[in-house]
Amino acid sequence: MSETWDVVVLGAGAAGLMTALAAGRRGRRVLVVDHANKVGKKILMSGGGHCNFTNTGTTAAQYLSANPHFCKSALARYTPQDFIDLVDAHGIAWHEKELGQLFCDGASRQIVRLLLDEADGVGAQVRAHCSVQMPRRVDGGFRLDTTLGTLECASLVVATGGLSIPSMGASGFGYEIARSFGHALVPTRAGLVPLTLSGKHQERLADLSGVALDVEAGCNGASFRNRMLITHRGLSGPAILQISSYWQPGDDLRLDLLPGRDAAAWLKAQQVERPGTELKNVLAEVMPRRFAQRLCEVWLPNRPMRQFSPAHLQDTAALLQAWPLVASGTEGYRTAEVTLGGVDTREVSSRTLESQRTPGLYFVGEVLDVTGWLGGYNFQWAWASGVAAGAAA
Ligand SMILES: Cc1cc2nc3c(=O)[nH]c(=O)nc-3n(C[C@H](O)[C@H](O)[C@H](O)COP(=O)(O)OP(=O)(O)OC[C@H]3O[C@@H](n4cnc5c(N)ncnc54)[C@H](O)[C@@H]3O)c2cc1C
Repeated sequence: MSETWDVVVLGAGAAGLMTALAAGRRGRRVLVVDHANKVGKKILMSGGGHCNFTNTGTTAAQYLSANPHFCKSALARYTPQDFIDLVDAHGIAWHEKELGQLFCDGASRQIVRLLLDEADGVGAQVRAHCSVQMPRRVDGGFRLDTTLGTLECASLVVATGGLSIPSMGASGFGYEIARSFGHALVPTRAGLVPLTLSGKHQERLADLSGVALDVEAGCNGASFRNRMLITHRGLSGPAILQISSYWQPGDDLRLDLLPGRDAAAWLKAQQVERPGTELKNVLAEVMPRRFAQRLCEVWLPNRPMRQFSPAHLQDTAALLQAWPLVASGTEGYRTAEVTLGGVDTREVSSRTLESQRTPGLYFVGEVLDVTGWLGGYNFQWAWASGVAAGAAA
């Protein structure tokens, strides 16, 4: 005995649920299955419990992908305003935090509720606790053996997400499906993840755990100005999470510790104004005192400003503006917000998200090699890719 559906969606996360409601609106009979005990777990834990559900400044430039053009079509057809309209229609209160990031005033579960209510409204069914075996191609569609019975469908949508936070239900199943249907994968790695330090690099900062400061972190041509937080394992905070997506072991990573200032001009002015003040006390006015002190113990000479020659002042400015950070690695998928890499987009339609190898097979959301910056961009990609696939599947 098998059940027959027009569309089966694997994964009841952000992208899968969005696909279901978009396909359901077209009158398609849709079933969403998820192996986790609860749906939308990442939405529930997102944005510190308040779900940063979109970013008003979304463009393709905030996404990493081997093909940076791929995400453009879906993002253009389902905009942040479209999702805001949906949020407003459900009476969910929200606010902008910074940099176009929109958060729920209340709990993230309101967004899960929104998606489930919308899915219900179009007759889409959602089943948790459902383990699925490798789908097979059958005449004009797919057959899947699951713990809730055999399913047959004309369209199969893979919305199983990435590898980050395995305890939340993350698995590599989507990648296995892609591979079994002949798709190439872009190597995966943890993104938006704290960096770890080791040896002397860790020893120099470990006791400053909890200290936070504004920095501009730069690596491989990308740079982000935001907060950095010292932890007992290494470094975190938004500036570090952002740059982690651009960093790989061995890459040169630099921090501007005086972001937005011309360090040389500023130091020169300090030298004129307070020649008798030590460097650590001058720096302590623009960064946490303990961090300023540590800089002057390990990386910089601490002496009264008048004792700096022009060349020394120039060297000091250069170090403060490009402080080298030697990270040993990342905290990995255990704490990463996203997975970089994934299903290679070259054989997927950017308009419909359909496989160009297997008609009827779709990939949406994070399982694809499309990864956004921190700040609501990843959900916007989940919504937009879900809507694009739901309009075609
Ligand atoms: C702690 C944390 C906070 C975050 N905060 C934000 C934020 O505020 N804003 C933002 O834009 N992004 C945020 N993200 C990123 C965002 O959650 C993801 O990019 C987004 O959820 C991806 O959507 P998705 O539907 O592709 O995958 P997911 O939401 O991960 O959904 C995939 C679903 O597939 C299911 N699944 C996996 N394997 C199988 C299988 N073998 N069989 C059946 N089902 C399976 C999973 O159980 C899951 O329900 C955060 C991520 C984390 C980890």
